Amino acid sequence: MNQSILRIAVPSPLHRSFDYLPPAECDAPLLQPGVRVRIPFGHATRIGLLLEVSDSTSVSPKRLRPALQILDASPLLADDIRHMVLWASDYYHHPIGDAMTAALPTLLRRGKMGTVQGDPAWRLTDTGARIDPLSLQQAPRQASVLERLHKSPHELPRKELDVPMGVLHTMHGKGWIEPLQQTAPPKDAANLVLKSNIRLSRDQQAAVSAIRDSLGEFHAFLLEGVTGSGKTEVYLQVIESVINQNHQALVLVPEIGLTPQLVDRFRRRFPVRIALLHSGLSDRERLHAWQLARSGSAPIILGTRSAIFTPLQRPGILIIDEEHDTSLKQQDGFRYSARDLAVWRSRFCRIPIVLGSATPSLETLENVNLGKYRHLILHTRVGAAGLPQIGLIDVRGKRMQDGLSPPLLAAIQRHLDADGQVLLFLNRRGYAPALICHACGWIAHCERCDARMTFHASNHQLCCHHCGSQRNMHNTCPKCGSAALITLGQGTERVEDALASHFPDHERVRIDRDTTRRKGELESLLDKARSGHGRILLGTQMLAKGHHFPDVTLVGIIDADQGLFGSDFRSSERMAQLIIQVAGRAGRADRPGEVIIQTHHPEHPQLCLLIREGYAAFAKAALEERRATCLPPYASLALLRAEALRRDLPMKFLECAQSLAASQGTQGVEYWGPVPSPMERRAGRYRAQLLLQAPRRSDLQRLLRLWVPELERLEHSRQVRWSLDVDPQDTL
Ligand code: ADP
Ligand code: ZN
Ligand code: ZN
Repeated sequence: MNQSILRIAVPSPLHRSFDYLPPAECDAPLLQPGVRVRIPFGHATRIGLLLEVSDSTSVSPKRLRPALQILDASPLLADDIRHMVLWASDYYHHPIGDAMTAALPTLLRRGKMGTVQGDPAWRLTDTGARIDPLSLQQAPRQASVLERLHKSPHELPRKELDVPMGVLHTMHGKGWIEPLQQTAPPKDAANLVLKSNIRLSRDQQAAVSAIRDSLGEFHAFLLEGVTGSGKTEVYLQVIESVINQNHQALVLVPEIGLTPQLVDRFRRRFPVRIALLHSGLSDRERLHAWQLARSGSAPIILGTRSAIFTPLQRPGILIIDEEHDTSLKQQDGFRYSARDLAVWRSRFCRIPIVLGSATPSLETLENVNLGKYRHLILHTRVGAAGLPQIGLIDVRGKRMQDGLSPPLLAAIQRHLDADGQVLLFLNRRGYAPALICHACGWIAHCERCDARMTFHASNHQLCCHHCGSQRNMHNTCPKCGSAALITLGQGTERVEDALASHFPDHERVRIDRDTTRRKGELESLLDKARSGHGRILLGTQMLAKGHHFPDVTLVGIIDADQGLFGSDFRSSERMAQLIIQVAGRAGRADRPGEVIIQTHHPEHPQLCLLIREGYAAFAKAALEERRATCLPPYASLALLRAEALRRDLPMKFLECAQSLAASQGTQGVEYWGPVPSPMERRAGRYRAQLLLQAPRRSDLQRLLRLWVPELERLEHSRQVRWSLDVDPQDTL
């Protein structure tokens, strides 16, 4: 009989798997793919994942080593995830061992055995349920715990109750609440769903029925609707059916979208266990949530990008909210698109997938055009409010005050006077993006990047937003000694100052990376914004996405020109998405909203189209342009990037890479470059890139399959850091 060979994915930068003999006394033919295996690797041991048991190998018998230990009795990675990762490793040309381990929680990667207990969760006892939180004015923290537990019909983890342990123990002592191990079965497993008393609109009803009808088979839906049109309500109603069929729902949202409000909304609706997976978890918490999903004891899994690798005991549906959002694509290491993996996974599992967005990506719209995805549209906003009026302010020649034009200032005043809330968007933090010497023209540059330093007034520092370096602000010009240093342009800090002097009686809330660094700051600023305490809200992307401010009546986009002339082919798509997203913050509930965009290019055709006819018309035109220029979705791209401390090396490496490809045959694939990256030097390293473009995906994939494994053998490959990005989100 042939010897059994274990084919193992081992975390390493090498583009292949490794063969081992089974450990002593192991019945190899019975082993299932997906179990972890401890193996000798070089002089160390590593933990790999069994891909298959084979009866042949190309390794010579003398060099085959036995594995040390099988760590799991049953596979950690179920078939759907294992196959999905195999597919992704192949499609993104990422080493299989590294890709497989990326799919596992860190503790399992390190060989942790058994299960972890989560922090106990807490639920009300019957006695506790009869206590009115309002009667506890002397004990506000106990009152808040009661209130939270009253609202959520099921247990809550301590983290979400957000009070010291002592408070919970006191309440436990009074018999009001009790701890519950989260692996225990939930309180009343039957009839878990609270009936909502919401009456769906016609569009919502149509969407819910279409998706419900497809449960149990693969179907991809694009659910398009502006903010406030009731997409989330559609998700909730569909999830209700999924849970009633005893299946699980996996919902992915952008990092910034996984807010306590969203989680609360799910909790209030579904008295079931919800597993949360996001970047703020400790390794133990992550593993615990992973186990709740895998064992099936959490019917709902809410997570960000990497949650796509969460195993499900009984998959029922996948939902990707804000499917156009760039944070769904991993930008380093294993560069996968969680959205595209999700579509793959739902096809494999034969379950429906819903992609939701107010501003669908052009790729997804093209899939609708091709008939691959079904388009469900929510045409109107819930409630009386119509879509906001969008207007342009031509700022050419206008006397600007710290980036604010007189008409914008007047509009702000008008809305404040009418008791409206105002939201201003500027995607640039700091005080000013440049510091220049008025005497000689010297400009403060980063020493490590081809970039200017941004002046931050709060700590009187110059900061580089590309590499993070900081230095003290000069009082005099280092070149000519003049004291006439002036700041050019504006960031959020400066606009906040200006607003303070124009509207001193109205409280302002500024939300950007600088004001939200410490834990809890973002939440408290958002509370201030939502409660209506802050009248003028100012911020970057952090404010534009995912949050609902029902009383905002005016949205001002301070500088649309940044996006109009970006150097990447996706710049205008991103600009349009951002404008619509920001605009969606205005005029919810029953107040009509107004949106004002400041620009030097009021005649810009794409901007005009977007404003006059909306996102769909913009997207149609943008798709035509992509078709004419042979760009995605009408072509596939891959970007090979290289960087090194020496300037010549990245280009040399890429030139060798290009010759290698030429020798392998490149039918159907075109090259652009190699060229230095648009920002050639960043964080002290020189960067260059080679772009591959093919009208047919299969041509590109055929080339990459031959090419990538050979790249590591190229002459300069060890002198540069290189990476391949398939379907890059930007080409910068
Ligand atoms: P979106 O996800 O598209 O932004 P939501 O589902 O959050 O929209 O809906 C916006 C608001 O309208 C929410 O407060 C939601 O509870 C409410 N809502 C949604 N659908 C309905 C409906 N059919 N009737 C009444 N209120 C609704
Ligand atoms: Zn000078
Ligand atoms: Zn820098």
